[in-house]
Amino acid sequence: MHPDAACELNFASPFELLVAVILSAQCTDKRVNMITPALFREANTPEQFVAMPTEKLERLIFSCGFYHNKARAIKEASQSIVEMGKMPETREELMKLRGVGRKTANVVYAVAYGGDAIAVDTHVFRVSNRIGLVNAKTPEETEKQLMAEFDSSLWNSLHHLLIFHGRYVCHAQRPDCAGCLLADNCKYRKEHGTESPSPKTV
Ligand code: SF4
Repeated sequence: MHPDAACELNFASPFELLVAVILSAQCTDKRVNMITPALFREANTPEQFVAMPTEKLERLIFSCGFYHNKARAIKEASQSIVEMGKMPETREELMKLRGVGRKTANVVYAVAYGGDAIAVDTHVFRVSNRIGLVNAKTPEETEKQLMAEFDSSLWNSLHHLLIFHGRYVCHAQRPDCAGCLLADNCKYRKEHGTESPSPKTV
């Protein structure tokens, strides 16, 4: 169903990807891609982001929403990298960066460095629970159960496939079950038929 499933954020270095992933929280990749060309023309290294006044950074990322928090996270992560002396390349090191959560570290590790990781965002959480691949209440539980269920060589592509499925077919409010090739094997579809999901069942 999703032969082209891959990261849809534009970036030219692992650090640019890190910034783009921070910006993508509660925002579409499309919107992030609209603002990053101008942002990265102004700054695309940790040193440059540390030096950039917070007000200027907030102005440049304003349209991605939550710009106070995102500017702080970008500044903190940049400062941590400057202190470390280089962009971290392992998941453990990435998770040590201030302003960087587990999901962001997993995405950068998997996409920029080809590491085996399953980053659980809202799509991965919703879709894997609906299909019945996992039965989890939190993103951390979801990540753990998916990792136990699938061989590590599949984690990276599984992450992208679940995101694409959530983005383009299994929408939060109106999943396109009629056009979904997983319908015969989907737990949600078996239990709820064609009824639209309520917040409790998502
Ligand atoms: S059948 Fe419906 S609920 Fe199940 S994965 Fe497909 S779109 Fe989502």
